[in-house]
Amino acid sequence: MKSKQFIAIEDKYGAHNYHPLDVVITRAKGIWVWDVDGRKYLDFLSAYSAVNQGHCHPRIIKALQTQAKSLTLTSRAFRNDQWPMLAKELCQMTGYEMVLAMNSGAEAVETAVKTARKWAYQKKGLAQDTAEIIACANNFHGRTVTVISFSTEPLYRKDFGPFTPGFKIIPFNDAEALEKAITPNTAAFLVEPCQAEAGILIPTEGYLKRAKEICEKNKVLFIADEIQTGLGRTGKLLACEHEGVRADMIVIGKSLGGGCYPISAVLADQAVLGVFKPGEHGSTFGGNPLACAVAREALRVIKDEKLVANAAKQGQYFLGRLKTIKSRHIKEVRGKGLLIGIELYPEAGGARRFCEALKDAGLLCKETHDNVIRFAPPLIIKKEELDWAYQRIAGVFTKLET
Ligand SMILES: *Cc1c(COP(=O)(O)O)cnc(C)c1O
Repeated sequence: MKSKQFIAIEDKYGAHNYHPLDVVITRAKGIWVWDVDGRKYLDFLSAYSAVNQGHCHPRIIKALQTQAKSLTLTSRAFRNDQWPMLAKELCQMTGYEMVLAMNSGAEAVETAVKTARKWAYQKKGLAQDTAEIIACANNFHGRTVTVISFSTEPLYRKDFGPFTPGFKIIPFNDAEALEKAITPNTAAFLVEPCQAEAGILIPTEGYLKRAKEICEKNKVLFIADEIQTGLGRTGKLLACEHEGVRADMIVIGKSLGGGCYPISAVLADQAVLGVFKPGEHGSTFGGNPLACAVAREALRVIKDEKLVANAAKQGQYFLGRLKTIKSRHIKEVRGKGLLIGIELYPEAGGARRFCEALKDAGLLCKETHDNVIRFAPPLIIKKEELDWAYQRIAGVFTKLET
């Protein structure tokens, strides 16, 4: 079957909750993907950073296959021999004392919210049902009802109410607003170290540090959603490290699953994650041995292949190259590590048409909101491959200049 037929079937039977580019991928390896018509593309999105290690990484696939043949699921009613090892390795790698595993990013954010609330009642002494959590405008933390309850994006919220109470919104990158918003009932401040979905918004240097100090002073948990920025994407293992900040709780997901199996996690110290007692929270698939075996290898690949350093080095190089593109459509090129955005002027006709043109030129990326083109290639990418991408991108800007 050709692309057109698959697209027609998907549009007929699949719910229309996405607006994908019309490329039907059937095979992938490393940074490359192939469509059903045999065309080859460079993946410049990495499934929103879930494929940081590259597609079908041989070591990760081998770990998946080996584990699949011996044990896949026990539920947490019983113990298995993979979860303890992942828990230990994750804690050693990130420097936290405890971890709780879930499946999707949104679930892990929900878990962080539940943890913060329980912590506030047990450790901070708040009266039942009074805990508040502060989040930032234009955040993206996932799609469950509680998580969209503190979204400011009308598209994510419309017709999904009633919402979960207990959240307060302040502007991103505004430490003073945080200080003002904190009350005796504030349990936590939840923030993305860089707002990726909002258009690759990088906060002013010092913001995270200041925000962390304010939280500490007020006995408020600082929660970093590192689902997209974490595990190397921005050139540090955790994006908070750029400012020397150690969050009280971090949420990771996406590339923790090595691009092939969903797994997410919340990490914190015993004083915070220790609030959970048996039965108070859980997930049938959370911490399952297949996910854990994959995640263990996914983490080892990040370490062995020095993907964090590569993201820093190639990101800096590529950002510099992109900044040389002269186009009347470009308002700003910005990024950190290999998380890069090109913001277009509203008059440019939207980022979507640039992404369509880039697709035709063999490079797959996706607009975020209307006017930002997001680039997030797998972290295994090399300089020559970025040069190849640069040629395509520069070419598209020349072509669409008029
Ligand atoms: C992708 C993402 C999520 C949600 O993860 P899912 O696995 O899609 O539920 C949450 N926060 C951030 C910052 C993300 O990038």
